[in-house]
Order: sequence, then structure tokens, then C-alpha cells
Amino acid sequence: MKRILLFLLLVATSSIADGRFAQPVINSEAQLRSVVISHTGNRPDNNVFGLELMTDSQELFLKSHDVASMLLASRFWEPELRRLTVKVNGHKVVFLADNRFINVDGKGVMLRAPVYLHEGDLWLPMEAVTSIFPALTGQSVQWDRARGRLEYGTALYNVRSLTVESGNRVTFAKLHCSKKIMWRTDTPTSSTVRLKLYGALVDTSIVKLEKESGLLSNVSVVQLEEYALVTFKLNRTVNSFRTFSEKEGNAIVLQLEETRKIDLPAPRARGYVNMAKPMAAIDGTESISIKTIVIDAGHGGLDAGKIGTRGTQEKTINLNLAEILSRKFRSAGFDVVLTRDSDILIDLDVRSERANLSGGDLMISLHCNGWFNSKPNGIETWFFQPELTTPPGAGGFVRWERVQELHLVNSSDLAEIIQKSLIDETDATSRGVKRESFKVLRGANMPAVLVETGFLSNSKEEKKLSSKRYLSRLADGIVEAVIIFRDKHQKTEEATP
Ligand SMILES: [Zn+2]
Repeated sequence: MKRILLFLLLVATSSIADGRFAQPVINSEAQLRSVVISHTGNRPDNNVFGLELMTDSQELFLKSHDVASMLLASRFWEPELRRLTVKVNGHKVVFLADNRFINVDGKGVMLRAPVYLHEGDLWLPMEAVTSIFPALTGQSVQWDRARGRLEYGTALYNVRSLTVESGNRVTFAKLHCSKKIMWRTDTPTSSTVRLKLYGALVDTSIVKLEKESGLLSNVSVVQLEEYALVTFKLNRTVNSFRTFSEKEGNAIVLQLEETRKIDLPAPRARGYVNMAKPMAAIDGTESISIKTIVIDAGHGGLDAGKIGTRGTQEKTINLNLAEILSRKFRSAGFDVVLTRDSDILIDLDVRSERANLSGGDLMISLHCNGWFNSKPNGIETWFFQPELTTPPGAGGFVRWERVQELHLVNSSDLAEIIQKSLIDETDATSRGVKRESFKVLRGANMPAVLVETGFLSNSKEEKKLSSKRYLSRLADGIVEAVIIFRDKHQKTEEATP
């Protein structure tokens, strides 16, 4: 009884809202009309019939049973309340018999025609079928009155799915589209490729990737009014990418490639380091052994670094110099570790971590400079400038990102020696030794410096840096400096107290 009262209250409320009590005035002469429900995909057409149940309107009504089978929806009929709940795709639509008021996911919607209870089923006006369900199912519902066809399942979305295929060091991510879509690509960070798809409507429930697949770590979509942004997060070993269209524009493909991995231990979890080396500041008087030199060629892969007026890319010069330098160090009897030996991008933290894990005794990071005008030129050598004034060893630990602070005395000395030796060797302008809180240096548990070998914004220097002969002279300057540094700090047995 209580439920009936509730129903009456509901009817009363809706009647007040629509200003008219929807009487079940059914056209007694309503003719059967044949309706073909057609679906895309493999489902066969379904022949049903509709009725024009209203005396004053041509609105066609369909049985809720037929509509639910079309939508693959489930129905719950509560005879006491004369209430039908249709559940589809996680949504809930509630119809009341002989009422224009329906409830879609808790929100009231007013139809022009009521829903009629007739011959043991609720009959839904075509208006409800075509206007309510597309948004809930993501599929279009189109009524072609002249042909008597109700077409269901032509997706509203024009970007309908994402597939990922991976092979040896290559991953293809394909966006499947129902029409030709224009796109633009950018790389907001070194490990992100973003596609801006103009006029795209992306089915965000399908076009996404939440776990790693091939060289992709995830894919997310932001749908905006005029375009959609699809963001591909890349595995850090990705070295190059390209986008192209396939299937006459009906697929946009992002191709990711990685080059061969460098032969170094994988970086381990960060946090507190517990390395073999002393965890107290080194004042420069201790004997230190210099055997393994870590050479870090700055930038790489998607990150070109500075770009010269002639188009020279910093990443290439850094790598060329690293290669020459490593040969010269080896022939001088040192062991060499390269943080990268190919055109690949590695995070700054990972570079210093690799230096530590490979047992490096000294680290040299190679870079080129650039400025807004062509005037500046010359060489600079940098060592680390801490950002914090508190001592790094508080609490008995030295956090990995502060470990360079233990080596500042030696790093400073190394920087001075390298700077002088480079100028002696090349006659370039000396811009001196400088300090900065470079991220690549801060986690290195060894004396570490960063050398800016010249300005790519200066065409003369750009030209010099492009020649192997000049790079060879730079390399000589660095190797000689390291020998001087080693001999100064690596004390002989007799000299050690
Ligand atoms: Zn650089």
C-alpha cells in the first residue's frame, strides 16, 4: 500500500511538473507498422512492429521488449508501481506507465509523448528511443521513417579503438577512426608524445591503455569540444617515433622504436644510498683512486639539446666527443663507462646512478652551450652548487641526491684543472669555472664536473665543434687534466701516513 501511495505521489509530482496528467488515451484504430531494426556488426536485422498509439500524433511506439533486445539491455518490471527499469551499459532509465516523465540516471527528463502500457508491455515513443539511448550506449540510434528502418550501432565516435602491436624494439599504437582525421604531434616531455586530433570524438571508454604494453607505459585521452588530445607515455628506452596514417586515413599510427640498450646495470630503486665509498665529506687531502672514468654525453634521443645555427645538434657533438674521449682514456690506461653510447635519451638521475653503480671514480658530463645571439663563445667548466645549506649527512644517511656534496672540494679542483687544460689545448676563450645545481651531478658519488665545450649559437664555434680534429683536441685537454688530477690525489704508498 505504501508503494502505491509513493507511486501516486510520483505521478502527482510529475503531473504538476508537466502541467498535464498524461491520460492513457490510446488510438483504438492504431495500425501496425513494420519496423526493421538493423545493427552494425554481425547481428541480423530484427523485424518488429510499431504502433501509432496517439490519436493526435504520428509518433511511433515500440515495445520495450524490442528496444531492450536492440540495446542488449535488461528490463525490470514492477507491476505494483507500473514501473519499468531499463539497465544498459551501466546506466539506469526508469519509465512509468502512461507518463511522460522518465528518469535517466537519477535525472528527470520530460518526453513529448507518454509511455503507454498496452497489451502487456510498455510502449516507448520513438523520441525516447532515439534521444535517450545514444548518450548511454555510445551508439547512434537513427530512425528512418520513410524506410521504416531503425538503425542502431553506427558509433557516434570517430576514434573508436586503440590497438598496440609490438615487435623487436618497435611498438605500433594504432588509433582506428571511422573517418579521416587530421592530427598534429608534439612532445611535451622527453617521454611523452601527444597527438592532437582535430574534429575527433574519442570513445574514451575504449581508447586508453592503463598498463604497460611494448614501449608504451600508458595512453590517456582528453576529449575537448573541437579536438581530442591523446597522450602516449613512453618507456624511457624509446629513442625515436613517427606518426603516419594507414587504411586511407582510417588509422593513425604511432611508431615507437628503441635502439640497442646500453650495457650497464639497470638503475635500482632510489632512496637512501649505501655505497662503498665514504659517507663523510672528503676534504681533498685524502688519497683517492682514479681508475674508472664515467663519461656522460648530454641529451640524446628525442632531446637534441642546443641546436646550432647550421642545425648541428648538441646531442651528436656530445656523443662524438664522448667516443673520442673514451678511446683516449682507454689508451691512457683508464677504464671507461659511458652513460650512453648511442642516440638515446636517459634521465638525468639515471645517469648519475649508473655512474655510481658502475663503480666510477670520476664523472665528466659533456655539453655544448647556446645563447640568444651569436656573440658568446668559449669553454666553461661547472661543478655542483648545493641548493641547501644544511649539511648532507644529517641522521647518519646521505640522501642520494645530496651525495655530490661530499665531493665538492675535489670536484672544484677537477673543474679548475680541466678548465685550464682545455684552454691550453684549444686556445678557446676561457669563461671560467662556474657552479650550478645541475641535476646530473648531484647524485654522483665521486668528483664530477660538467663541461660546456663551446657555443653552438656561435657559427665559428659550431663549425669547430663539428670537426673531429677539434673534438680530439678537447679530448686531449680533458685526458691530460684527469691525469694531473689523478697524480695529485692518488697518493703513493710512502706518502700515505
Ligand atoms: Zn646540454
